[in-house]
Amino acid sequence: RYGTTPQHEGAGPALSFEFVPSRTKAQEQRLWQCIRRLEPLSPRFVSVTYGVGGTTRTSTQDTVMRLKRETTLAPAAHLTCVGAPREAVDEMARNYWQAGVRHIVALRGDPPAGQAYTPHPGGYAYASDLVAGLRRIADFEISVAAYPETHPAAMSAAADLDNLKCKFDAGATRAITQYFFDPILYVRFLDRCHAAGVTAPIVPGLMPVTNYTQVARFSAACGVDVPAWLTRLFEGTQNNRELRRTLACVVMAEQVRILQGYGVNEFHISTLNAPEPAHTIAHILGVRPICAGKTDF
Ligand code: FAD
Repeated sequence: RYGTTPQHEGAGPALSFEFVPSRTKAQEQRLWQCIRRLEPLSPRFVSVTYGVGGTTRTSTQDTVMRLKRETTLAPAAHLTCVGAPREAVDEMARNYWQAGVRHIVALRGDPPAGQAYTPHPGGYAYASDLVAGLRRIADFEISVAAYPETHPAAMSAAADLDNLKCKFDAGATRAITQYFFDPILYVRFLDRCHAAGVTAPIVPGLMPVTNYTQVARFSAACGVDVPAWLTRLFEGTQNNRELRRTLACVVMAEQVRILQGYGVNEFHISTLNAPEPAHTIAHILGVRPICAGKTDF
């Protein structure tokens, strides 16, 4: 069985959504429209990413704090090791705890484009170090990253799995995977995790292909295979936004249906601050908005 979270078996699927912090007023408006549209779906948690090299430190923090203050959602703050001393990272974690934020997505982070990763001299070097540091601060729920297709910098798939185990040994409670397009890659990865004795939930990360060119570029950079069928599917759709949106939903719906066939019952969806693909998938999975105690038709 592949159920990601044993206590959720038998219940409807559990969803979580990922948002990107805003840099401008217009982006902020879009972000909050997205949050408000998805809030009635009562996701298990919502997470807010942290820009490359910590570039969105303030806006990530502001968004997470506002989610905590002004919504019914359980926010999770992405936090990375890149370019910051331990004291700064620890202080941010303490601020989150004091504000009632109980969930951190702990990551190493990536260096700015074209640069090799070098740990900050006074910082946490890898995600496992950050997880151990967070555990010393408070009893956070800690999610970490996992890679069904192996992290591009890993020495081997086995070394990458050892690293994931290190993150759990350090105190992580859940992994969220890098997105993938072939569900079998996830299923095989889960088999390897289970064979290696990993029992914590490994939640599949899903990415809607609303902008094929961007997703293809990003996938090449982070070692995600873009199957030929996906490329063919989006050919000729450049001038048809509506068709692209429909296709993005169809691709994701097929993924979740196949994963559900393997007993997977928890999904983490990157929204890119556009609510409709996530909302559509939630609907397909039987998740309905709860509006003041009644279902919204
Ligand atoms: P780690 O687990 O530390 O691993 C990174 C690499 O280092 C691996 O190849 C590992 O095998 C190797 N390694 C680990 N420990 C050691 C060691 N002791 N010695 C030598 N090598 C070692 N990035 C952001 O900047 N902001 C985000 O908000 C963000 N969100 C993400 C969310 C998810 C779900 C995922 C999957 C990724 C996200 N990323 C984000 C990207 C992530 O930061 C990068 O993939 C990064 O390159 C690795 O992060 P990690 O936490 O997996 O690193």
